[in-house]
Amino acid sequence: MTPEENIELADILFKDEELKTPEEYEEIFPYRKLPNKAEVTRLAPSPTGFIHLGNLYSALADERIAHTKDGVFFLRIEDTDAKRKVDGAVELVIDSLKYFGIEFDEGAGLPDDAPGNVYGPYTQSERKEIYHTYAKELVKKGLAYPCFCEEEELEAIRKAQEEAKELTGYYGKYAVWRDKSLEEIKEALASGKPYVLRLRSRGTPDREFEFEDEIKGKISLPENIHDVVILKKDGIPTYHFAHAVDDHLMRTTLVLRGTEWLASVPTHVELFNALGFRLPKYAHTAHMMKTDPETGGKRKLSKRSDPEMSLEFYKKDGYHPICLKVYLLTLLNSDFEEWHRNNPEAGLEEFPFSVKKMNNSGALFDMDKLENICKNELSQLSEEELAGFLENWAREYAPDKEDKYFSDREMILNVLRLYMGVGQKRRRKDFVNAKQAMELISFFFEEEENPADEFRQPPEVRNEILKSYLEVFDYGDDNSQWFDKLKDIAQQNGFATDRKDYKENPEKYRGETSDVAEVIRIAVTGRANTPDLWGIIHIMGEEQMRDRISRFIDK
Ligand code: GLU
Repeated sequence: MTPEENIELADILFKDEELKTPEEYEEIFPYRKLPNKAEVTRLAPSPTGFIHLGNLYSALADERIAHTKDGVFFLRIEDTDAKRKVDGAVELVIDSLKYFGIEFDEGAGLPDDAPGNVYGPYTQSERKEIYHTYAKELVKKGLAYPCFCEEEELEAIRKAQEEAKELTGYYGKYAVWRDKSLEEIKEALASGKPYVLRLRSRGTPDREFEFEDEIKGKISLPENIHDVVILKKDGIPTYHFAHAVDDHLMRTTLVLRGTEWLASVPTHVELFNALGFRLPKYAHTAHMMKTDPETGGKRKLSKRSDPEMSLEFYKKDGYHPICLKVYLLTLLNSDFEEWHRNNPEAGLEEFPFSVKKMNNSGALFDMDKLENICKNELSQLSEEELAGFLENWAREYAPDKEDKYFSDREMILNVLRLYMGVGQKRRRKDFVNAKQAMELISFFFEEEENPADEFRQPPEVRNEILKSYLEVFDYGDDNSQWFDKLKDIAQQNGFATDRKDYKENPEKYRGETSDVAEVIRIAVTGRANTPDLWGIIHIMGEEQMRDRISRFIDK
């Protein structure tokens, strides 16, 4: 077709639409004025109603890259596939990320008058005329054309290619509508046949170009030769075309996305060139992997079979958002862990995050590692912070416990102080998440189901121990006076009070003082392991202690 025919075709294809020109859009969405080295990043999820750990991983990287250098992080909703749309999905993305302290500066879901929200609309289904402006432009330049092939024809082409052992796809001589005349196209249009709009690729087969990925470094990729679809039959853009138009007009400087998109880079490079856009930087992130408990091998974390992939999992069990953040930063930048260890007081936002430090091989998700990080991070909260976190969690996930545990503020704070070792030489690291923490301290607030299961001493021995204990107990005793009394009870009941002696002659004794303490501990708390028992009793109070112990006497 001649240049004049291209323009005629563009006018025919978009005749009923009043479209702005590319120049107008360039003016409406000017380049952003940003400080040196500041990046504009975005999260671009499809509104499927599901947000997972992989999304959080990317979102955190995007957010850190933008905010480490006064850049911008925005949310774009990629809803060009109507089948996958779910109500409330945008709010879900925003709320889920907010829980982990990740907030957008700009984008979908923010109020219309949010400052800076001037590069929208940020939802692709609201941008149809913008895409059409650029599609029309490509047709005008002879870089795009309508293709009226039906599914069966495409299928037949693919079969023929497979039989001839050739690359499958719509390209070169197989691109049947590529070189049709304007007359033929007009005829097809007049017959009312549906069509898609395709890029007229100018790539050369077997030619490679060098591409620099921010994470993977320099790689060679083949030039694109496929006449990819840019507008579908309903005029909605494909991901490729929308990506080019949106990231250009929204002035994204760094596109961070899953490694599954790396293979599409040649298409994107060609599209950006055809459209006359400057190419953004790209960072393709590795998949999240886990060690399969059955095979011991590594595999991709799966939305379907791995509950820990869902963010809801962490909310439900009450993982503190800071713990997940620390964990993901540990996976994202290899020097983060050491930095955090050396700067325990520094806020996470002070860490010099960089896309260049991101891991090129799969990020291996390890639950044990996460739990260790949780123990560490929770031990560093103040007891007020922890109480607030537990209370919020209980309000949502264990409402029957909220009042029982939190109505007596001083009591819960004392319990947490004891459990966290506040004021001790070293902090204790017992708590992993809200659910587990509430279970650990539950005996202060509720009766235990069946503590008797825990006892190791026979009933007559424990009866004796508990009876003598109640006789000699004095609330006013300090920790060591109290412990001396346990030693007396130990001695009277055939337990060793001297470690060394016990180690040398175990057969002479029933056990040692710690075994006596254990009987009392289980009767009072229902557990064989707790922090300092004297401390527990002095929080719980004498009355409750006596009640609990009495349950086991003469039974
Ligand atoms: N909607 C695409 C996805 O969810 C976005 C990829 C991108 O970030 O460009 O995979």
